Amino acid sequence: MVKAIVGANWGDEGKGKITDMLAQESDIIVRFQGGANAGHTIVNNYGKFALHTLPSGVFYDHTTSIIGNGVALNIPVLFREIQSIVDQGVPKPKILVSDRAQMVMSYHILFDQCEEERLGGKSFGSTKSGIAPFYSDKYAKIGFQVSELFADETYLRDKIANVCVQKNILLENLYHKPALDPDKLYEELMEYKEMVAPYVCDVSAYLWDAIRAGKNILLEGQLGSMKDPDHGIYPMVTSSSTLAAYGAIGAGIPPYEIKQIIAVCKAYSSAVGAGAFVSEIFGDEADELRRRGGDGGEYGATTGRPRRMGWFDCVASKYGCRIQGATDVAFTVLDVLGYLDEIPVCVGYEIDGQVTTDFPTTHNLSKAKPVYEVLPGWKCDIRGIKKYEELPENCRKYIEFVEKHIECPITMVSNGPGRDDIIYRK
Ligand code: GDP
Repeated sequence: MVKAIVGANWGDEGKGKITDMLAQESDIIVRFQGGANAGHTIVNNYGKFALHTLPSGVFYDHTTSIIGNGVALNIPVLFREIQSIVDQGVPKPKILVSDRAQMVMSYHILFDQCEEERLGGKSFGSTKSGIAPFYSDKYAKIGFQVSELFADETYLRDKIANVCVQKNILLENLYHKPALDPDKLYEELMEYKEMVAPYVCDVSAYLWDAIRAGKNILLEGQLGSMKDPDHGIYPMVTSSSTLAAYGAIGAGIPPYEIKQIIAVCKAYSSAVGAGAFVSEIFGDEADELRRRGGDGGEYGATTGRPRRMGWFDCVASKYGCRIQGATDVAFTVLDVLGYLDEIPVCVGYEIDGQVTTDFPTTHNLSKAKPVYEVLPGWKCDIRGIKKYEELPENCRKYIEFVEKHIECPITMVSNGPGRDDIIYRK
């Protein structure tokens, strides 16, 4: 059976924790999109880890971790990450890399940096990991697939020469930087070949066999609905689809095999990068939530950037769950809210004097003002509670209020960062 674990918000909802937890009963965990530009933080019996490329199932010795064709594969980052978890005592994970995955090249990172510099204050807040230039090249059909590393030298050198013509015109004339050296790019590819060779696999065929053999497969999404290039807050989005539906494409499996879609929703909001964020809060109120948030504060796992903070947004989350096709919601980081006397929840957007609960396109989103309902807090620590009925009444009311407004069943409540901090409902 295939399950997808995806974000219903802006990312950083705690997908890594839910994946790590569900990986216990899974055979295979697949990353199907995105690159090393965002991260998951995972706390388990080996310690605390920030993963950027590896799937969050690498901590078990019974699982196979897969980098699907939809991923922006940064080979040096992948290998550093494998080394760092092994150095922290995790058994060497079993990893497969799709022969159809494309590689982030050093010039993608360079172009990302150059473009951010050029845009100055008007930048999109890129993490400068090369992700946007990578996906641009993929769709411009000048990217390098892992399978091409095994092609003959003339083929690769011709392709590199062709790429250099275009890149060097931009580098020299738009960005005023030194031109790319084709020989260095060839060497770069050969280094990647040596590193990745033992892991290369026809992933789609492997997963087809696994599905037929009844294996349990998890698809692990990066970021969340709001960052999807089609359905999110374009242009303040990422460059690959963050939706469960794309899991079928980015892993190479039939769409109808995805039987459960777990949308991870955080009990308050946080976002990184620019873009409208209707329920955003500022000042001391935001600082306190940021400081208490997640596990050790709401700061980017990859960049260390302080995240923007806000109250739970039912409008964005209802839309985020619908667009994911969520069958279940995992409601996370609820324990963090235990310090509040009252908790505002955004239940509508006021746009040009009209209140709506439908998430608008970006143009109208910038005009939206939050409409809040204020719920009473529960004023205690809920970590360690294992049964839903044992949660304080106001905490249950908060969950049930959100569930009603997002129109999707909350079947899991996460009340701490650890694997066992989970309460199942229904
Ligand atoms: P992801 O990218 O969606 O996996 O999310 P991140 O890893 O960026 O952020 C989630 C953070 O919250 C991590 O530091 C997790 O350890 C932490 N976390 C996840 N679930 C819970 C929870 O229920 N309670 C608390 N306090 N922290 C959590």
